[in-house]
Amino acid sequence: MNKISCDMCIDLMPLVQDGVASEDSRNAVLQHLQECPDCRALYEGEIPTPSNTKEILGKVKRRAQLFSAMVMMFGIFYGLMLTAGNGIFMNVIIMPIIGGIGYYLFRWKALFIIPPLLLVTHFITNALGLGGEGLMPVEVVLWTAIYCGVALVGFVIAALLHFAFKKEDDSK
Ligand SMILES: [Zn+2]
Repeated sequence: MNKISCDMCIDLMPLVQDGVASEDSRNAVLQHLQECPDCRALYEGEIPTPSNTKEILGKVKRRAQLFSAMVMMFGIFYGLMLTAGNGIFMNVIIMPIIGGIGYYLFRWKALFIIPPLLLVTHFITNALGLGGEGLMPVEVVLWTAIYCGVALVGFVIAALLHFAFKKEDDSK
């Protein structure tokens, strides 16, 4: 049996669908459809989309997530640097924001991501002398625990807002 091209297949499709194609044309089209997903999609009335569209969208989403995570890390760095002076009060604002962003990005997994991230970042800023006078490792851990507690407030607020809006959406 003769194989046909995509163009030929598309030309013959309406004839096959209307049932007026010759037996040979019909067989050729059906054979091509079995081998060609693009023409099959067209035949079944779907708009053929490039198969990598989904892949590209996933990539963009992952990149956006990575970007947000980097912004969050800068926030942590900035917040910890501010603890040097009287900026500790700034941390009361920044840490909840970090907690909120953490929830937005990672949902419940943020509970396992933010504390280690804070601890590591705090050790780095402390070692670099960015947090003012150097702290003892125990002090770093202690302060990190306090920051985590403050960040948790933001996390819980974000989670509650999320659920509140979700409920509103459900009731619509
Ligand atoms: Zn084809």
